[in-house]
Amino acid sequence: MKHFSPILQDLINAFKGLPGIGIKSAQRIVFNLIQVNQEKAIFLSDAIKNALENINECSNCRMYTDSEFCQICSDPKRDSTILCVIESPADMIAIENSMSFNGKYFVLMGKLSPLDGIGPDQLKLDKLQSILKDGSIKEIILANSSTIEGEATASYILNLIEGTDIKASRIAYGVPMGGELEYVDSSTLTQALNNRSIVSKR
Ligand SMILES: [Zn+2]
Repeated sequence: MKHFSPILQDLINAFKGLPGIGIKSAQRIVFNLIQVNQEKAIFLSDAIKNALENINECSNCRMYTDSEFCQICSDPKRDSTILCVIESPADMIAIENSMSFNGKYFVLMGKLSPLDGIGPDQLKLDKLQSILKDGSIKEIILANSSTIEGEATASYILNLIEGTDIKASRIAYGVPMGGELEYVDSSTLTQALNNRSIVSKR
């Protein structure tokens, strides 16, 4: 990129490496913003600054919010007895979009990964433990990812509720909707068979 001005290089580098954006996409975005979308560029710059200055973690569930508590934690219509533990804010959006859950959440902001220096402190599992101990939660859904780290994190959390009356469940894995069995990998198929649900009483 030696032919570019350092200002342009900085901007391209700022986009390069963001999730899903390589060098070519970064260049396309930057040239598009400068050439044809200057208003959008200013909006983008203001929106990023505004978010960085005003967005914090919800004091309860760790979702990003501009208040002390996020909208879900503040919503009295949500079921406070059931808590879904997820790894990221994007997971919350995915579950909310499914419109199949009306409880509350706890966002871990990651998964246990000692090699990357991510332990219980980084996931604020002590905070989760104090929520689980306050007596209002009757059930937790462990919606951790099905990676080795995700499973380890789910096991760790399961240990936190040992000896309590809290019911724990793990989200099921299996055949995707519209999926054909012959294209499903064998470990997913094994999980699907293990997690089969009864459809007949006989
Ligand atoms: Zn919250």
